[in-house]
Amino acid sequence: MVQAAMLPRSAIATEHTWDMASVFPSAQAWDAAFKEVEAQLADLGRFKGSLDNGPPRLAEWFDAYQRAFRALGHVMIYANMGHTADTTDQEAAARFDRARGLMARATGAAAFADPEIVAIGFQALRGWVREDSRLAMYAHYLDRLERRQPHVRTAEVEELLGYVLDPFRTASATHGVLADADLTFGPAHATGSTEPVDVMQGNLSRLQTDPDREIRRTAWESYADAHLANKNAMANCIAAGVKQDVFMARSRRYGSSLEAALLPNHIPVDVFHNLIAVFRRNLPTWHRYWRVRRRALGYDRLFPYDRSASLGATKPKVPFAQSVEWICQGMQPLGDEYASIMRRGLLEQRWVDVYPNKGKRSGAFSAGSQGTHPFILMSYTDDIFSMSTLAHEIGHSMHSYYSWKTQPFIYARYPLFLAEVASNFNQAMVRAHLLATNTDPDVQLAVLEEAMSNFYRYFFVMPTLARFELETHQRVERGEALTARSLIDLTAQLLTEGYGGEVEVDHDRIGIMWAEFPTHLYMNFYVFQYSTGISGAHALAERVLAGTPGAVDSYLAFLKAGGSKLPLDALQDAGVDLSTPEPVERAFAILARTVDRLDLLLAKRSGKPS
Ligand SMILES: [Zn+2]
Repeated sequence: MVQAAMLPRSAIATEHTWDMASVFPSAQAWDAAFKEVEAQLADLGRFKGSLDNGPPRLAEWFDAYQRAFRALGHVMIYANMGHTADTTDQEAAARFDRARGLMARATGAAAFADPEIVAIGFQALRGWVREDSRLAMYAHYLDRLERRQPHVRTAEVEELLGYVLDPFRTASATHGVLADADLTFGPAHATGSTEPVDVMQGNLSRLQTDPDREIRRTAWESYADAHLANKNAMANCIAAGVKQDVFMARSRRYGSSLEAALLPNHIPVDVFHNLIAVFRRNLPTWHRYWRVRRRALGYDRLFPYDRSASLGATKPKVPFAQSVEWICQGMQPLGDEYASIMRRGLLEQRWVDVYPNKGKRSGAFSAGSQGTHPFILMSYTDDIFSMSTLAHEIGHSMHSYYSWKTQPFIYARYPLFLAEVASNFNQAMVRAHLLATNTDPDVQLAVLEEAMSNFYRYFFVMPTLARFELETHQRVERGEALTARSLIDLTAQLLTEGYGGEVEVDHDRIGIMWAEFPTHLYMNFYVFQYSTGISGAHALAERVLAGTPGAVDSYLAFLKAGGSKLPLDALQDAGVDLSTPEPVERAFAILARTVDRLDLLLAKRSGKPS
């Protein structure tokens, strides 16, 4: 297999890159803005000790705070864009590092505010909100603060907890450096060939879909073995990350790190536990999927490296312009306004950094800040998978677009619990559109394979990692040690249950999976929200596709609500109640129907009954 050499960043046509100049025209302009933000942060200090002076002072503080942080957002996104588009660019890396430091300083500089506001007393504050119309919009913020009150520490402690965030990133950063810079992967090889095939972070998922099983096996083993060779250092990173979560939870007087993750957003811990329970109840669907896959591939035994093997001989080619077309058609039920904003962003305003280049960060994300465009980084490769990734990321972007446009800065960001709803909603809509309208059997199969791959990540890997997180945090909370061996054994045990005897167990190589997630496992119970997010997304997409009266309007209102409502309330208003396990059950039913459909299509293609 010959790979085209990766192009340097400078060789990518401007029209396929994101529009950094729309944020700042030059690095010099960024520098000037950086200094301006520093001055604004220093100026915030003059409010210290005076927030209780009366409503005008508090309103003035909120204004100054939002101005500084809004400007900081622009400094951050520009630095982030430069660095992630080309991590080999040293100047961009330096800007990114400085911006991150500035963010930590800002968090520290504003940390006195919440304790001071709490000290005013909420009864008095409610009077102020009625009295001074400039404070009216902060009623929700103050409500949330009131509920968080037992966990807000003194100004001094809060300042310290703010400053500690930057050094606390070291554990995850070190894990990332090990994974991205220091790991060396042995080469893979094709059946009957000794010619080495390079294995890299950036090409592993493609090698895992290769029709040649020997390439898949050798690449998968090489990837796992490289992580196993670094298992002790990586386990140390994970242990440090978990201890930091426990430290933060205890500093804020939460009963556990799980509570510290959920209670600030008023999500009962049952939402987490229910998700895990529904996942375990539905494992037989996964076991059936492995069987369908094994039969389709014609194997006696299915190995972990067969999980992503392509089931179709011909992969439909989907150029970027075709993707944009399909996504716009799929999202048309939301109306002309939504579709035209999205189309303009994708085709004219350069929201997307489309193609891979040397040094570009792998994976995909949507980012930005109120007052900038939403921006998407990805490595588009002309296939259905890339199309679906684009649909996913533009879902995030449109959520940001509407939130930023509708809400004041303080509510402009949507809560993390809602993050994966809008993205998966778009994927669900575009898939449904293609399955209903595109009669090309290759496209049908590719869409179903992509759907299963997405479900695999969100509804198998993420709940498994969530169980891993719960167990590791509880162990540290009980004062037990986390070692490489114990982490490998735990992961292998969870995956063995998930495989249900349908996938072969290679104990240490599957057990090292935790080491392959250098960011997700450092976010204190973030990963389960992928599963709740995809559940909410499918429930809302079903309403829109079924033509439920009011479904489109309530969905658009959801996008516009940003952080102005508690996450469960925002979902409730949009039409799905995630405080109960029911939507998760329904999403697993959709997964089961997708497996049925795949099974049927494969049987038709092979001409054999399934
Ligand atoms: Zn996402």
